[in-house]
Amino acid sequence: MTERVAAPLLLGRNRVLIGEVAGAVAGIAYLMVVDPHDPRAQMPFCPVKLVTSLDCPACGSLRLAHDVLHGDARAAVHDNLFVLLTSPLLVYLLSRHWRAVRAGQPVRVPRPLAYGLFGAALAWMAVRNLSGWPLKPSA
Ligand SMILES: [Zn+2]
Repeated sequence: MTERVAAPLLLGRNRVLIGEVAGAVAGIAYLMVVDPHDPRAQMPFCPVKLVTSLDCPACGSLRLAHDVLHGDARAAVHDNLFVLLTSPLLVYLLSRHWRAVRAGQPVRVPRPLAYGLFGAALAWMAVRNLSGWPLKPSA
């Protein structure tokens, strides 16, 4: 009885993982061939930037990914230093998420880490929007 219930759950979890990995691979492939610095490129818009004209904590992340994929570290630093510095942690959290989903375990980010990241992102947003801040996303 347990195997009859577990098999569809495992199949469903694997579909979620396959979908997430396929989405990530498709996104990376798109950023390999399309340059987000080009204003004619089809890219998602930032709702925070649209409404407030401020750079949100994630603004410049697609340009950052494009620059990292093409080995341009200097441009990547200007695109989004916060995401660049936290990317190892974000990759770790994503791999932890995938392992937990695959094992059928609940996925939780430790509360202090979640609050710490949220606070750091808000501080990053405040700092990056100060006039005179030198690291602006490259156009
Ligand atoms: Zn944004």
